[in-house]
Amino acid sequence: MGRAFVYVILGGGVAAGYAALEFVKKGVSHGELCIISDEPVAPYERPALSKGFLLPEAPARLPSFHTCVGANEERLTPKWYKENGIELVLGTGVKSADVKRKTLLTTTGETISYKILIVATGARALKLEEFGVSGSDAQNVCYLRNIADANRLVNAVQSSPGGNAVVIGGGYIGMECAASLVINKINVTMVFPEAHCMARLFTPKIASYYEEYYKSRGVNFVKGTVLSSFDFDSDGKVTAVNLRDGRKISVDMVVVGIGIRPNTSLFEGQLTLEKGGIKVNGKLQSSNSSVYAIGDVAAFPVKAFGETRRLEHVDSARQSARYVVAAIMEPGKTGEFDYLPFFYSRVFTLSWQFYGDNVGEVVYFGDFSGSTFGAYWVNKGHLVGAFLEGGTKEEYEAVAKATRFRPAIEDLTELERQGLTFAVTV
Ligand code: FAD
Ligand code: NDP
Repeated sequence: MGRAFVYVILGGGVAAGYAALEFVKKGVSHGELCIISDEPVAPYERPALSKGFLLPEAPARLPSFHTCVGANEERLTPKWYKENGIELVLGTGVKSADVKRKTLLTTTGETISYKILIVATGARALKLEEFGVSGSDAQNVCYLRNIADANRLVNAVQSSPGGNAVVIGGGYIGMECAASLVINKINVTMVFPEAHCMARLFTPKIASYYEEYYKSRGVNFVKGTVLSSFDFDSDGKVTAVNLRDGRKISVDMVVVGIGIRPNTSLFEGQLTLEKGGIKVNGKLQSSNSSVYAIGDVAAFPVKAFGETRRLEHVDSARQSARYVVAAIMEPGKTGEFDYLPFFYSRVFTLSWQFYGDNVGEVVYFGDFSGSTFGAYWVNKGHLVGAFLEGGTKEEYEAVAKATRFRPAIEDLTELERQGLTFAVTV
């Protein structure tokens, strides 16, 4: 049993949805494109899962957040795929790939062949077991990567009214879920190994602003330690979290956000891997010229940095998806992918954006006791990164533009004096 397509997208997440829209815009013919996803639903805006999906009132639910509403584009329902002649194979995993034969074998036993494959398999959440702690299967221990996880998290919240949660991990999932739990009137303790939250992006000064804000909303921070084990009741529910520093915290529920691993296993030994992902060139083409990779799973050359990076953020997934379709359908008209990294988060009433790279010297601006402040990163005499909390649309656009432009910076004191005005006038 088998079917053949010109283009196959493996994975049905953010990148797949944006690629599908771009294929249609570029005039793909009916029957040429197939998307295979082990999720039971059409591609959706994954960022909604830690934000609107967790609201206590009028939470976001599908079909409202199918791609590509996050970029103010068309909302692609299963009907849209059908009308555009795209074969959407849902609830079906791919269990092996043969890049020499250009075939994929699905969990239903079907062989799907392609001329061009776009790998958009994203990533999986790291499990506590990978750090030597067992208990991930307990019903009140929650991860957050897909709709099934999000439903489980909502159930745990609803089963713990006014209860206590421990959030393990001080990264994106930890920070966004902690805020959502507080909004749901759950008492939150965050536990992470670093000295401050968001350690890979935030400086201590930036982190301190958010930690103080979270504390003002009742969140406790336990830093510099990790989970060592759980206590369980006779039903297998976790009742307490034991930390390596000897502390025990009673809980009604636990949320774990301790990082991800890209889903590359189908291609190990077949494609070149780098930085944990599939290594691609400036055309997002892997070491096999018929296979491209986009989104979280792709390690691609970031021109502005002169090095290969793997980014785990939605804008990168959207832009790499749009780009790859142009590179495949209109190769003569399409140069190399030139992407400026962009990360953002929204928690409570706070909202920040970051563009570029956080290397070099940091110059702060704005009012860290107020609501609008930020930082520039200056490396080798050039502006390479910018962070802004509480900006207007125009101000965010200005810091993005300034970072892309990489202006020469001779005087850090002058940059500090000008602050946000520098970006607006550059
Ligand atoms: P994914 O969206 O993860 O899609 C991968 C798809 O491939 C999934 O459907 C998966 O099930 C499928 N798949 C994998 N292996 C197989 C297989 N063998 N067979 C079939 N199907 C397979 N980024 C931001 O910039 N801002 C945010 O606010 C933000 N919020 C987030 C909130 C949450 C809760 C999460 C989990 C992530 C968030 N991100 C955010 C990150 C962003 O969602 C990801 O960077 C983006 O989803 C990556 O897109 P992708 O298509 O590469 O991978
Ligand atoms: P992150 O990599 O952002 O953060 C993981 C955090 O957990 C880090 O602080 C890490 O520390 C810490 N950690 C690692 N091991 C342990 C441990 N054993 N015990 C306690 N803490 C530990 O990953 P997340 O899980 O938060 O997010 C998953 C993915 O979802 C990421 O790709 C992220 O980009 C994406 N996402 C993005 C959002 C956004 O862009 N707004 C929102 C939500 C998710 P260390 O740094 O030392 O490893």
